[in-house]
Amino acid sequence: MSKKSRAVKRRRRCYLCGRNGNGDPLEEHHVFGGPYRMKSERYGAKVPLCGFRCHREGKESVHRNAAVALALKEEFQLKIMAEQDWTVEQFVEEFGKNYT
Ligand SMILES: [Zn+2]
Ligand SMILES: [Zn+2]
Repeated sequence: MSKKSRAVKRRRRCYLCGRNGNGDPLEEHHVFGGPYRMKSERYGAKVPLCGFRCHREGKESVHRNAAVALALKEEFQLKIMAEQDWTVEQFVEEFGKNYT
């Protein structure tokens, strides 16, 4: 009766450019990496990105462009703070830094 395949099948797209991964397969990027990788996982700070163009190698890719990485961190800090009802101080306790 109630099948939820429609929602499950929703196509994943690159969080930055919206491409669907054709020709440049999508990869998961942890918004807060290094020691905060697991926390990124826990709080859902993970986005699909074109592996080459937007994740690792492109001029505007998150691992090559500090401004892009920072914008993503700021956005997800605000998202997590709203979801968890955290103050900036509480966020810094968990993620080590204020990005806003
Ligand atoms: Zn990454
Ligand atoms: Zn992309």
